[in-house]
Amino acid sequence: MSTVALNVIVLGPPGAGKGTQAARLARSRGIPQVSTGDILREAAQAGTEIGRQAKAIMDRGELVSDEVVIGIMRERLDRADARLGFVLDGFPRTVAQAGALDGLMAGRDPLLVVDIEVPESELVRRLSARLICRDCGVNAADREAACRSCKGPLVQRADDSDNVVRERLAVYRRQSAPLVAYYRVRPTFRAVNGSQAPDEVFNDLVAAVGDLAAGVAKPGAPS
Ligand code: AMP
Repeated sequence: MSTVALNVIVLGPPGAGKGTQAARLARSRGIPQVSTGDILREAAQAGTEIGRQAKAIMDRGELVSDEVVIGIMRERLDRADARLGFVLDGFPRTVAQAGALDGLMAGRDPLLVVDIEVPESELVRRLSARLICRDCGVNAADREAACRSCKGPLVQRADDSDNVVRERLAVYRRQSAPLVAYYRVRPTFRAVNGSQAPDEVFNDLVAAVGDLAAGVAKPGAPS
């Protein structure tokens, strides 16, 4: 094998900064960021059948069915741009999805998994204060008055209202936290401290991915 594809999963609770960090990592490596949340929100906005069904579930802070998101990912990871690597953000979210992803990865380079850890009290504070652009959906930085990419107005995401935030965190504890246990036993897992400033989290993320990639690139390392 000449080059090892960088197949990364960024794990972490809602509000940990997964999306921002995954986008930055993907950009720096020239590989796609694949976010099931973004794909589902696009489908909802486009008004497709899956999108309409998913929207009602997302607005309640619950999870879309494993069957639907696994189908979306099967198609997405098959596309040519994902062959050289990808950064997954928001998938997998259940142990069933993780098992299905292992199946989709057959014959491909190993998954490198990084968990961004943030205490729950900090997550509630961050999510309730988060603003996104109404028009293009990007996260706004602190103290921005309008969207930095399209100048659109900033609004709260429908699922960031207080009661939905609490529901999303409860869903995370119940269905997604076991994922960390699923991956933690692998030599391709690392945790980073997500309570730091975004640039420091990014540095730790890059270092963790570099370390893990070096481990799998070693001759004789399991692939
Ligand atoms: P996110 O943008 O990752 O916070 O996702 C927003 C919402 O999309 C979640 O609260 C879920 O309703 C839905 N969603 C995103 N990814 C998944 C997934 N892997 N499994 C099930 N539901 C998902």
